Amino acid sequence: MKKILILPGDGIGPEIVAEAVKVLDRLRADGLEVELEQGLVGGAAYDAKGHPLPEDTLAQARAADAILLGAVGGPQYEALERPLRPEQGLLGLRAELKLFSNLRPAILYPQLAEASTLKPEVVSGLDLMIVRELTGGIYFGQPRGVRTLDNGEKEGFNTLVYRESEIERIGRSAFEIARKRGKRLCSVDKANVLEVTELWRQVMERVAKDYPDVELSHMYVDNAAMQLVRAPKQFDVMVTTNMFGDILSDAAAMLTGSIGMLPSASLDADGKGMYEPIHGSAPDIAGQGVANPLATILSVAMMLRYSFGQGEVADRIESAVGKVLDQGLRTPDIAAEGQASVGTAQMGDAVVAALD
Ligand code: NAD
Repeated sequence: MKKILILPGDGIGPEIVAEAVKVLDRLRADGLEVELEQGLVGGAAYDAKGHPLPEDTLAQARAADAILLGAVGGPQYEALERPLRPEQGLLGLRAELKLFSNLRPAILYPQLAEASTLKPEVVSGLDLMIVRELTGGIYFGQPRGVRTLDNGEKEGFNTLVYRESEIERIGRSAFEIARKRGKRLCSVDKANVLEVTELWRQVMERVAKDYPDVELSHMYVDNAAMQLVRAPKQFDVMVTTNMFGDILSDAAAMLTGSIGMLPSASLDADGKGMYEPIHGSAPDIAGQGVANPLATILSVAMMLRYSFGQGEVADRIESAVGKVLDQGLRTPDIAAEGQASVGTAQMGDAVVAALD
């Protein structure tokens, strides 16, 4: 029996997670062998226990096979000192569980193609996955800081560093994912300028030998940024460093124009993962019952595919989401101007009904 830790978090977190739990309950009734446990993270954990990542939550997370997280944060926590802010709950979980592989799909359901700022024919049906290295690179490299030079001028510095072992594990993670999708992997680097990414390219080539069924290509990051907005449908899976992935995955997400639709995953070396929508806690609409629960429901699909090896059940959830969009159901964030909309619970119920 697989164990899922449910961490609703703050703002709209509890509302959207409740709908994802409805989907899981429906699948359990059909024989999916998972058990659910609830925990506290972020501002909710700070309010109850004085810390955004209490020890017992961490213990629950370690014991779980996968984690479903809503969102954390809110204006009431912004004055707290940094270690007590809700975001530290998320960062702490990533670090403690060694979740080094961040999967950020950008999927544009054809029914929502009008929501993109790009022409519908460029983005309709887009389905790409960016695999971002999450625990290394320039965001963590030492030395780092701001120092004062002899002439009194200040100088800021960071270090871009990757070991072969770090590149190899993110490479393997990406090849495994490409294998479960269209079997094409594009590794994004700046090998013409940065030695670190020259090594990155060499290691990717080496790992590729173990995945003869996956086609590997390389692209410089500046070109990749251009290609993402010019012809994004050329990509299946992209793999890249922490900072390049941070930037490219946000650009790719925005191609779809609907933040309420996009799930994400962060995996460790054994495929254990934390799954969450890419959006935040949306305090502006929290408590109103209008948040879009689809990104969270699609996060459950990712969990089933990537942590539990249940690709068929994942397909079933994704096609249920497609069906409710076909039926014309829209939460306000994805409704066209003048189009009627439904609330969070109604959308969740419709997905559950469409699973049949
Ligand atoms: P946000 O993603 O919460 O909201 C941005 C806009 O998108 C808002 O107008 C919001 O109403 C809308 N939106 C987001 N999710 C939606 C959904 N499911 N349905 C309908 N509309 C939705 O980003 P923000 O406003 O910059 O941040 C709000 C809080 O969330 C902050 O405290 C921030 O730190 C936190 N945050 C958390 C995460 C996370 O938990 N992973 C990520 C980003 C931001």
